[in-house]
Amino acid sequence: MDKSQILKEFSADPEKYYNVKLFAEQGFVRKSCAKCGRFFWTLNADRDLCPDDGLDTYSFIGEPPTSKRFDYTQSWKQVEEFFVKNNHTSVSRYPVVCRWRDDLFFTIASVVDFQRIMGSKVVFEFPANPLVVPQTCLRFKDLENVGVTGRHFSSFCMIGQHSVPDLGGYWKDECVDLDFRLLTDQFGIKKEEVVFVEDVWAGGGSFGPSLEYFVRGLELGNAVFTEFQGELGQHSTLDQRVIDMGAGLERFAWITMGTPTAYDCCFGPINEKLFNTIGIDSDSDVLKKYFTEIAKEIDHFDDLNEVRRLAIKNAGISDDQLNKMITPLEGVYLIADHLRTLIFAITDGALPSNVGGGYNLRMMLRRINGTINRLNLKLDIDDLIDTHIDYLKDTYPELDEKREDVKKILKLESARYEDSKVHMKKKAEKIRERGVPSVDELITLYESDGITPEYLKEVDAISEIPSQFYSKLSDLHQSEKKKAIAELPLEELPETETLFYKDDPMEFSAKVIKVFDDMVVLDRTSFYARGGGQEPDLGSIAGFKVVNVDKHANIIVHKLEGGTPKEGETVQCKVDEVRRANITKNHTSTHILNASSRKILGSWIWQHSAFKEDDHARLDITHHSSLTDEQVKEIEDAANSMVKQNLNVNIDYYDRGTAEQTYGFRIYQGGVVPVKSVRIVSIEDQDVEACGGTHVKKTGDIELIKITKTKRIQDGVVRLEFVSGPTAFQYLKDQEEESKKQAQDAKQKEQIEKQREENKAKAREQIPILLEKIISGESVESDGINTKGKLCFTASENFDDFFHQNFGKKLVAKDSSAAFCGIFEAGPTVRVMVFAGEQSGVNSGEIAKEIASILGGSGGGDAKFAQGGGKDTSKKEQAIAKAKSMILG
Ligand SMILES: [Zn+2]
Ligand SMILES: [Zn+2]
Repeated sequence: MDKSQILKEFSADPEKYYNVKLFAEQGFVRKSCAKCGRFFWTLNADRDLCPDDGLDTYSFIGEPPTSKRFDYTQSWKQVEEFFVKNNHTSVSRYPVVCRWRDDLFFTIASVVDFQRIMGSKVVFEFPANPLVVPQTCLRFKDLENVGVTGRHFSSFCMIGQHSVPDLGGYWKDECVDLDFRLLTDQFGIKKEEVVFVEDVWAGGGSFGPSLEYFVRGLELGNAVFTEFQGELGQHSTLDQRVIDMGAGLERFAWITMGTPTAYDCCFGPINEKLFNTIGIDSDSDVLKKYFTEIAKEIDHFDDLNEVRRLAIKNAGISDDQLNKMITPLEGVYLIADHLRTLIFAITDGALPSNVGGGYNLRMMLRRINGTINRLNLKLDIDDLIDTHIDYLKDTYPELDEKREDVKKILKLESARYEDSKVHMKKKAEKIRERGVPSVDELITLYESDGITPEYLKEVDAISEIPSQFYSKLSDLHQSEKKKAIAELPLEELPETETLFYKDDPMEFSAKVIKVFDDMVVLDRTSFYARGGGQEPDLGSIAGFKVVNVDKHANIIVHKLEGGTPKEGETVQCKVDEVRRANITKNHTSTHILNASSRKILGSWIWQHSAFKEDDHARLDITHHSSLTDEQVKEIEDAANSMVKQNLNVNIDYYDRGTAEQTYGFRIYQGGVVPVKSVRIVSIEDQDVEACGGTHVKKTGDIELIKITKTKRIQDGVVRLEFVSGPTAFQYLKDQEEESKKQAQDAKQKEQIEKQREENKAKAREQIPILLEKIISGESVESDGINTKGKLCFTASENFDDFFHQNFGKKLVAKDSSAAFCGIFEAGPTVRVMVFAGEQSGVNSGEIAKEIASILGGSGGGDAKFAQGGGKDTSKKEQAIAKAKSMILG
């Protein structure tokens, strides 16, 4: 939808879309900006420029327009107090990891908290009306601006003010009145300073007018009135109109403090700590001048590097000041900002990795590490984490609980970064030789080698980070989280009655509603359809084998083999009971192992995905490293202790909002639940999940859980393969047998080895005696060797390859008219070995080749020495006879 078109239409009828009661009451006048033409509302009739173009833009720096001063956490207290006083419910923030939406990794706006996707539609579910929420939002698009512009953050607190007018809330008049009074009464900003700018919002098929409010060129908030749906011109009013007012808490603090940057008043005591480290005073006039210039110019250029150069020039910053002040300052702001974002993300269960949303987190930590190295700072990250959390814990007490987990994860990630430096250094050198890389090349470098542009800057391989790098990277990793659905001709079929959620009979009769190809739809079924990682039930319908069961929206489709019943028939159905029982045990075991892993490993453990078949199952968990044998054992022990305690497994249905408010977003282990009524599976107080699968009644029914294998399957994800119930006992039995067999094999091997050693010793004794006898013309027939002169042959079973090898070699060395041919069995083959002295008249190669071909194998060598063999043992006697005649004649 073309936003400018909508704005044109709305601004053409301001009475209908923008003129609120407050404007008349207070005497606001509507003006059009002399520079850009946008319409705005102001109490100052002389004002003819909009806030973006106004001369007062960012003049609050060093000279705030309020009598009161509030930092970040104090500002929220003010906002909260004001809205609660005015009948709003103050709701705690939702997680920054957006578990309730399929299409977002992170929460990017306060309104996202209350959006749920049903099919292709977005619906709103508010836990209170009206409400206000301090929602931490993560945005990675402007990463290169963070620390540099004075007002861009990778995470910020969006004050969300939400109201549904048709369910007892208010609409435009009261909203704008509240926002105006928040600024003037609560924050003490002079009425004349507040300017409202007409704008529109459009997205997700709906749109509406909005009023942005500014003070001295700083946009503090935007009140969106989501009112219409459809295409402009053919649009209709929404069933549920919604007020979505979002304001930046950081900016509220900034406007009252008037510090050079918003960072100076939003990070609490951490700034002072960092300033002391680099030894600068952030309250200097130079900085005020510099950051005011940055703020004024930022919207006029696409390239941040250009803005920066211009501000340096306009503020009269010397090279020395740049290097000693601006650059280190940007660095410490970046560190403070990125660290705060990582604290929120890790607290809410995200892990830095190279996939999905974890990408951005790893990038941020690498930016922190890179900055620390580049500026050669001595910083204790743990101490900085403590400082952040101590400052924020009043507003966000949940951060306090995860303090140690955050430290642990960041320490581990930083160590990984250090480890990868040797590799990165080599790459960086190549880059320096090749010349400046393009944005795409930089992205490839990060994706395949984990090399950040910060690192390249740190080692001087590049001088500037190109603008667009971060926005491009964040775009690439935004849309990964999507799913595809297959289409079947199921229109107008009634919803299938799901017996497995009721009495769950293993034998039942049902009516055939629809047959197409080899697929059958019944009016009711006990066959569990594949879903939530649980494999489908098998069995029979009307005597035909059920080979697959899938769910398409609310219709269950059975795939049969060998034929299908007729539409309209009533048929007998039978579920494979044993299979179902095994799958069910594996499913409850998945929940148990998930809870055990979290208990043993840490709070960052979430189910990444799961798979439950009847004879094996797997659970993929989010974890930073491979598991040690000890950890695996501890998890398995914790799981089996839950089995032993025979805990109740309860299934209850809740309204989605109630479930979320009661149990939190931990319930979404298996992903998003696209229904209003949520099925909650709880194992007493140990585990609570929203889940549609089949479960045992008590954990004791599982009897035993065995983890068979674990593997780190991707960065940040570890797979546990396991078995439970009868399969686990079978696994134990197999393991026992396997180890028994291994012991036997080892023993056998040992015996063979012993025999060989004995034979060797015997041969060493025998060989010199036999040689002497043969050389002196004595008979050795009784020893198993036939001779004719000094030509010898043996097929005796008393000799092994060691004997043949040594005896033959020594014989021809002693006497050049001697020759030796031996045939013997070695494993599954019959082998021949021939040695011939130069004067013997025997050709070893010919004999070996001939004998090998009889045995169906191959042979090779020269006249002096040759060997060969074959696997056809039935020809052994023939080979012996031939060999004997070839050498002895
Ligand atoms: Zn303008
Ligand atoms: Zn489940």
